[in-house]
Amino acid sequence: METAAMISFDEALDIALGAARRLDTEQIELAQARNRVLAQEVRADISMPPYDMAMVDGYACRRADLGSELRVVETVPAGYAPAKATGPGECAKIMTGAMLPEGADCVFMVEHSEPTDGDGVRFTREDTSDNILPLGKNIAKGDLLLSPGHRILASDVAVLASMGCVRPKVYKRARVAVIATGDELVEPEIQPSPVQIRSSNGVQLCAQVEAMGCIATYIGIAHDTEESLEACLKSAMDGHDLALFSGGVSMGEFDLVPGILEKNGIKIQYDRVAIQPGKPTTFAYSDDLFCFGLPGNPVSTFVIFELLVKPFLLAMMGHDYRPPQVRMRLASTMTRKSGARKAWVPVVTTDDGRIARVDYHGSAHINALCHAEGIIAFPEGTTELPEGTEVAVRLIRT
Ligand code: AMP
Ligand code: MG
Repeated sequence: METAAMISFDEALDIALGAARRLDTEQIELAQARNRVLAQEVRADISMPPYDMAMVDGYACRRADLGSELRVVETVPAGYAPAKATGPGECAKIMTGAMLPEGADCVFMVEHSEPTDGDGVRFTREDTSDNILPLGKNIAKGDLLLSPGHRILASDVAVLASMGCVRPKVYKRARVAVIATGDELVEPEIQPSPVQIRSSNGVQLCAQVEAMGCIATYIGIAHDTEESLEACLKSAMDGHDLALFSGGVSMGEFDLVPGILEKNGIKIQYDRVAIQPGKPTTFAYSDDLFCFGLPGNPVSTFVIFELLVKPFLLAMMGHDYRPPQVRMRLASTMTRKSGARKAWVPVVTTDDGRIARVDYHGSAHINALCHAEGIIAFPEGTTELPEGTEVAVRLIRT
C-alpha cells in the first residue's frame, strides 16, 4: 500500500467533510425527533402568544384604577375567553396564561392584593409591571423559526410541538458499522487471559454513534488476519453508510486494515494526520461506503471520533457541526516534550474557575476521560502553555 504524506488535522477534516454525502430524508414522529436534523423549514402557523396573555395570577384592571377599590366582575381561567370587558372601577380575577379581558391594560399579582369590606379587592403596592404578554410578542404567524440543517434538541422539540409540526421531515440516520480489531481483544463479558484485554472501543464507539442520533451496528472483533478483517468489512459493506474500525491502522506488522480497504476498492484518502493522539487516523471511501480507521488506544479512538467522525456524521445528516467550546484560563503551566504535532489534552475546571490537566498518561489511559470535562490543544510547534493563558476548551461531556 502507498502511504500518503502526513496531513494537518484541519486538512483531514476538510477532506472528510468535502466527501460526505447527504443522506435521504424521511418523516418521523415528533416524539422520535430529538437528536435528528431537520430537512425542512418550520414556520409559525399561529402567533405566540395567540392573544394578550396574563403572565401572573392576579387581577386584570385599568392602570388608571390601581389606586381605587375594584369590583371583581368575573374569574378568567386559562383556556377560557373572558365573558366581559373590564370597565372603570372593575377588575377580573385572572390566572397565568389566560386571555386578558378587553379594557384591561395591566394585571397586578394576587400577592399584591387584599380584599376590601365591600367584596372588592385593592392593590397594595405603589406600582406594578403590566404583567401582560402581548399577542405575537414572541412569534408572529409566518415567522421562520427553524431552518433545514438544524439539529433538533429538547428545546426545539417544544417549538415543533407548539407549531403542530408533529411529523417533521428529517435526514435519515447514518447507519454505522463498528469493528474492533486485534488478536489481543476479548468481548467485555469474557475474563481475559494474561495476554488479552477486554475490548472497550466497540461499545464506546457504538455509544458515541448512538449519541449522535445515528444507528450503530456492532460487527464484532476482527482478528489480525486478512480473512477475518475482510469478513468484517463485507458485513459492514452490507447496508451501512460508514464503517468505523478501531485499531489495525498503525505501522505494525499486523496493522492490516488499510490494505484490506484498498483490496476491496475503498480508496484511502489519507492515513497519517498530524495530531496527537490519532496519528494513524485513516479515511477512505468507495461509491457505497465511507470508512474511518481509528487508532486502537481508547483515548485516541474517543478523541478522533469527537474531532473528526462526529462532524462527518452530522454533515451526512445535513448539519454543520460547531463543537461547543468555552474560553478559559490555565490554572498552571502545561508543558510537553515535543511540539511536532497538535496535541489534545484532557482538562477539568478548578474551584477558582480555571482549568487544569487531569491525570493523563497518554492515549492508553482509558479512565482519564471519565474525569475530564473538555480537551484543549497544544498548537503545533508549542511545548509550553504558561499559567493564565486563555485557551479554547472543547467540551466533551455534552
Ligand atoms: P492498534 O491501533 O491496533 O495498534 O492498537 C493500539 C493499542 O490499542 C493496543 O494496545 C491495543 O491493545 C489497544 N486496543 C486496540 N483495540 C482496542 C479495543 N477495541 N479496546 C481496547 N483497546 C484496544
Ligand atoms: Mg491492533
